[in-house]
Amino acid sequence: LAVIGIDAGGTKIAALVLHDDQVVEKHRIPTDTTSAQSVVVGLGEITSLLRERVASQGIEVEAVGVGAAGFIDYGNGVVTFSPNLPLLDTPLRDLLQKQCGIPVYLDNDANVAALAEARMGAGRGARFLVHLTLGTGIGGGIIIDGRVYRGALGAAAELGHMVIMDDGPPCTCGARGCLEALASGWSIAARVKELADKQVDSPLVDDYLKDPDNFGAEKVVEHADAGERFALTILSEAGKHLGVGVGSLVNIFNPDVVTFSGGLLGAYHHMEENMRLAAERISIPISRGHVRILAGTLGDEGGQIGAALLPSSQSVE
Ligand SMILES: [Zn+2]
Repeated sequence: LAVIGIDAGGTKIAALVLHDDQVVEKHRIPTDTTSAQSVVVGLGEITSLLRERVASQGIEVEAVGVGAAGFIDYGNGVVTFSPNLPLLDTPLRDLLQKQCGIPVYLDNDANVAALAEARMGAGRGARFLVHLTLGTGIGGGIIIDGRVYRGALGAAAELGHMVIMDDGPPCTCGARGCLEALASGWSIAARVKELADKQVDSPLVDDYLKDPDNFGAEKVVEHADAGERFALTILSEAGKHLGVGVGSLVNIFNPDVVTFSGGLLGAYHHMEENMRLAAERISIPISRGHVRILAGTLGDEGGQIGAALLPSSQSVE
């Protein structure tokens, strides 16, 4: 079975062909975010291109899987809302299916990342896995007995919006103290802004003040790597909050493995110790003694691989 797996992002559309669990071809193009139609056209183009390329190797593509950031109605194949694509209430699955003539599967980017780590990555062989995507925001995926848990309407596993500090900082979702408001890329950048507002004297704050609008967590990681103490404190505190989230998830799911992926993995070594301490402190012994907590091994390709695994995976019913 050959399947095209597509990671539909706000800046690029990255795709690969998975054939017998091997990546046999890949390609990426910039995303045209002009309209829903332009996104569909881009997805269709990359699909035809990859189908032609593998056809010359005698491989026939049987289905397409797409992972996209945002809220996805899995049953109906609709993107309800995406933070980085113009796909509000767009029936993306059917639109793409009409264009390419083979079955299309559509899911949330974090669910597919979880599936990829469980089947082919750090959690290979795990029946019960919880995955967190650490990026600008925090996404989540839950694998139960090898299958994706999607909930009643396909909206489950929003693990970034698990509240871990009742009166904590405001989140993008409207609540306060979500994991995402305490340990995501945007929240880490927000901590630097707070230091700047307090006029703290530090190279980190100086760097922030040069271009506040474009200051992201990756800059905090750079400063932490150079030993800047405020940057180190911000990341280790984010690690502690992450650990509280992880420990709670361990208590709820008793998973074999907890895995992480995403752009913020560059900060993982600054967060890991506090994350583990907090997770161990709050998780119950029977689950704590079993779980392995690991950085994902599939990197950037995880989303594409997981999307390609969608046709051969089932939901928890
Ligand atoms: Zn939230």
